Amino acid sequence: MVSQSNAFYDRLGVKRIINAASWITVYGGSIMPPAVVEAMEEASRWFIDLHELNQKAGEVIARLTGAEAGLVTAGSAAGMVLEAAACMAGSDPAKAWQLPDTTGMKNEIVIHRAHRVNYDHNFRAAGATLVEIGDSSSTREWELDAAINDSTAAVAYIFGPRPSGALPLPNVVEIAHARDVPVIVDAAAMLPPPENLTRYLQQGADMVSFSGGKGVMGPQSTGILAGRADLIEAAYANSAPNSEAVGRAAKVCKEEIAGLITALEMFVDTDFEAVQAGWRAKCAHVAERLDGIPGLRVELLEAEPETEDAWSNFARARIGFTRDWTGQSRDRVIQMLEDGEPGIRVNSPSFEQTINICPVNLRDGEEEIVAKRLMEILAP
Ligand SMILES: *Cc1c(COP(=O)(O)O)cnc(C)c1O
Repeated sequence: MVSQSNAFYDRLGVKRIINAASWITVYGGSIMPPAVVEAMEEASRWFIDLHELNQKAGEVIARLTGAEAGLVTAGSAAGMVLEAAACMAGSDPAKAWQLPDTTGMKNEIVIHRAHRVNYDHNFRAAGATLVEIGDSSSTREWELDAAINDSTAAVAYIFGPRPSGALPLPNVVEIAHARDVPVIVDAAAMLPPPENLTRYLQQGADMVSFSGGKGVMGPQSTGILAGRADLIEAAYANSAPNSEAVGRAAKVCKEEIAGLITALEMFVDTDFEAVQAGWRAKCAHVAERLDGIPGLRVELLEAEPETEDAWSNFARARIGFTRDWTGQSRDRVIQMLEDGEPGIRVNSPSFEQTINICPVNLRDGEEEIVAKRLMEILAP
């Protein structure tokens, strides 16, 4: 069990919560392992040249992703800003200074409609205009080809929840590269499985952005950008510490770089079969405890990383509210979980009447607290 007191949060009167919702930024993302915090603390005691630190950290990212080059970013969202800026302005300081005004530059980013997520705003933040292809169920290869023109800066590819209707990444790469257009990927929440660190680059993506503060368990405000050397150089030219660029607002400090690199090195050394088994066991515990409550359909969903849906990278316990359910409404249950002591946050998709228990941020023992509280509410 984890310690139940925290001087700082208690002093400010901030309620601590049990996170059964996954790597959600608003709940704090993830908990850094002690070795990551120690690396940050140690890094905090010295001055260094940030260019040198970025260069050396980038070399570690390149080695672990198989990319030509890498860069620590201020999160995957910042990585997307830099991907767009790099493809539009390149390493030209005058163009970097001019962004987000893209006059005289290629400024269109082609994106599947199926990939429109709340984060694609980050491409527009750099000044890009999004050009959509496909619909919610399918996309034709000729649509991609026809959308590419002299103003196309890049084709974007987003691995988020439910990527239905998008062309496979290797096909996108083939079509884009035939027209000399780079493919930029956001795979923020696709780690683990660790194979994804190298997978999209092997499939030909020119740049890939990951979160450092989700499954990698580095500082919440960090990310990983990996890809072609010229594009990473351009991303850095459009990034902090350069004060004359859109990316200046997404600064990464030396402590965060130390934390992210330490976390990444630990991540690639982790036995994820064992981790997945532990996550599954927590979900199984919750599902077994709730089994048999009339009107509910409680399922243990297995991890299915092959679906390339961010939510399927780990097992979950899913509670479905059927028409025969006569207890509290789903939304009331969610509210009661939040209001309890300790508060519990769950994953509740807007498109179905379910509550999902995501195990990745449940610390040992918390699955019992979650199961017990759910029983109090659902089977009083
Ligand atoms: C979490 C997420 C992001 C943002 O990542 P940060 O590291 O929090 O900046 C972007 N895209 C998708 C699909 C995500 O899930």
